Amino acid sequence: MISGKTCTNMPNRRSDFHDRHLVPFDGDFSVRTASAKPPKDIPSKAELERELGDLVGELDKMQQLLFADGRFAVLSVFQGMDAAGKDSTIRKVFSGVNPAGFRVNAFGRPSELELRHDFLWRCQQRLPERGKIGVFIRSHYEEVLVVRVHPELLDAQRLPGADHARTWERRFDSIRDFEHHLARNGTVVVKFWLNVSREEQKKRFLDRIEQPHRNWKFRLGDLDDRDRWDDFQDAYQEMLRETSRKWAPWHAIPADDKAYMRVAVARVMIETMKGLDLRFPEMSADQRRELQEGRRRLMEE
Ligand code: ATP
Repeated sequence: MISGKTCTNMPNRRSDFHDRHLVPFDGDFSVRTASAKPPKDIPSKAELERELGDLVGELDKMQQLLFADGRFAVLSVFQGMDAAGKDSTIRKVFSGVNPAGFRVNAFGRPSELELRHDFLWRCQQRLPERGKIGVFIRSHYEEVLVVRVHPELLDAQRLPGADHARTWERRFDSIRDFEHHLARNGTVVVKFWLNVSREEQKKRFLDRIEQPHRNWKFRLGDLDDRDRWDDFQDAYQEMLRETSRKWAPWHAIPADDKAYMRVAVARVMIETMKGLDLRFPEMSADQRRELQEGRRRLMEE
């Protein structure tokens, strides 16, 4: 087990582990000092993989309970540079969850229809309903990341007013309000920044080039964003400072070690859901009578 305790049956309490990666809510966070490497005291890869196996099963049970409880939806948002491990982390962590209770959405460049709406519209269309877990691979946050690094993308958005000086500040306001609204209405928002180092990204890109079965994952254009690494890091920092809030916290997950990253994400998900005090619905006296009646009829067959 990773050091720290889980918060079984402790509503609204987070474990030490959860806090370890939490981006503070007071705007005091530096991407440059956030480590892409896991903590020193972690278990071996084999132990982490065993632990992930247990957590995958636990997450499935938590989703069943989420559905039975019926009050909450969970939205988990994944952001990170190319090759940070967004897809593979989601594939592994959610591999045990009932597909009927779970939906993944990936957000690429907006379509012509999406550009005809405000920037939150396309994400609103794909929010999870109560009882389900929704996963966003990239999200509305691209609007303060890639669009901020490439502000020429704003031209296609046809925003009123030519002066975009306050665009980012306004977008942060909109995002905070949007997520606060979701939280107040039962959608639990939990966000992961997969923090990969520049060196590790280079290794993973070279791996994609050198291994034939991974070639399809490589696009030369990915290197253009890599060339803008520092600009992206600045945009991430601003995003994390401005939008990690109690009602929609960011977690900065070290992404250079995939086994650790997956366990970390799974644990934050489970701890978040345990904090909701989910319950199976209480049976009313009438419902209990129906159960007795059902048993009696089946036994008489
Ligand atoms: P990934 O890199 O996430 O594995 P991919 O390379 O297969 O995905 P897509 O999923 O088709 O590509 O699209 C991702 C790309 O779309 C990223 O480069 C991302 O920055 C870009 N993108 C996402 N949202 C926006 C947006 N709102 N405006 C402009 N570009 C966006």
